[in-house]
Amino acid sequence: MTWLDLPADHPFGLHNLPYGVFSVGDGDRRVGVRIGDHVLDLVACAERGGMESAAVWRGGSLDAFLAEGRPAWAAAREWLTEHLSNDEYRDCVEANLVPVADVTMHLPFAVADYVDFYASEHHATNVGRIFRPDSEPLTPNWKHLPIGYHGRSGTVVVSGTDVVRPTGQRKPPTETTPTFGPSVRLDIEAELGFVVGGATTLGTPVDLADADEHLFGVVLLNDWSARDLQAWEYVPLGPFLGKSFATSISPWVVTTDALRAARVPLPGQDPEPLPYLRGSGDGPGTAYGLDIHVEVDWNGTVVSRPEFRDMYWSPAQMLAHMTINGATVRPGDLFGSGTISGAATDTRGSFLELSWSGQDPVILADGSERTFLEDGDTVVLRATAPGPDGSVIGFGECTGTIRPAR
Ligand code: CA
Repeated sequence: MTWLDLPADHPFGLHNLPYGVFSVGDGDRRVGVRIGDHVLDLVACAERGGMESAAVWRGGSLDAFLAEGRPAWAAAREWLTEHLSNDEYRDCVEANLVPVADVTMHLPFAVADYVDFYASEHHATNVGRIFRPDSEPLTPNWKHLPIGYHGRSGTVVVSGTDVVRPTGQRKPPTETTPTFGPSVRLDIEAELGFVVGGATTLGTPVDLADADEHLFGVVLLNDWSARDLQAWEYVPLGPFLGKSFATSISPWVVTTDALRAARVPLPGQDPEPLPYLRGSGDGPGTAYGLDIHVEVDWNGTVVSRPEFRDMYWSPAQMLAHMTINGATVRPGDLFGSGTISGAATDTRGSFLELSWSGQDPVILADGSERTFLEDGDTVVLRATAPGPDGSVIGFGECTGTIRPAR
């Protein structure tokens, strides 16, 4: 219990402590930690408290902190927990709390490389059936390696940023030549994004067992997708302009330390992956899944509740695979999990799947029907995970509103 006196099930209680970057009014960007309905100004509190490493949080982004690596992350978490729970530090903390209603949140770190995976068997199967109805839904490699592609880090935006409808080429199968115009099949992909810290040496892969040394935290991620552009361009090199116009992430980075109680075994991998992708140890082992409950809200109606524990590949396996060729990771690297979809219809993480490629409209609470996104539509992703001792770990929201094509 803390003197802050938060209810045990508050999604931003003492067990969570996610990091973000905020400003108040026209003020500078500052690194903060969410506690209850407040943001703790970390630099101000740490400097007043005489914390030697407070400098790492100056500069208005998490970049330097991400570069420090796990020992610094662990020390900071210990320091924060102590300061927020011990009455001795109450004055120092209270003087630097800002109501969350008063802050503007920003992109928490400079996104270095951005990669997006495709780790849900249900999503990959559904998309395979829709995009390639005459072939096996899963490609022959799918159960042997976590499939991914490199996306555009420069267009990763913080929650709340409007999304302008993309324009481009599309060619429905019924047409012989492509046409050009605003996307008419604009979609979402409900995902988690994994934030990487520390750095590696070119030529040296990250071993599966060492993945946690680099997995700093988790955000909600919406991989906005123009299905008509994507369907025409993706063969043979994968997604490009159908994805790169915008990717939204939630502003609070929930640390992997806060998610230790949410670790679960993977649903099962058959065939057994190659040794570099194999987990070990008891229980969840090194290739663990995460018990994170996601919610997809379309204009105020919750249309889907995907469960992250259904994912076939684990975050550690994705990181190990991403570096097995010797490619480096850098602080600020971000990789998406791929759309989170389960077996049940109401756990599908994209509108492509929910409406089965537009054949089966989704009915919203106001009676309106949707297949793909219309201008003015707002999508909100939310998530929670179990914390220790019955507590709840909240992720907050990742939201975006569609604006007309320019
Ligand atoms: Ca995706």
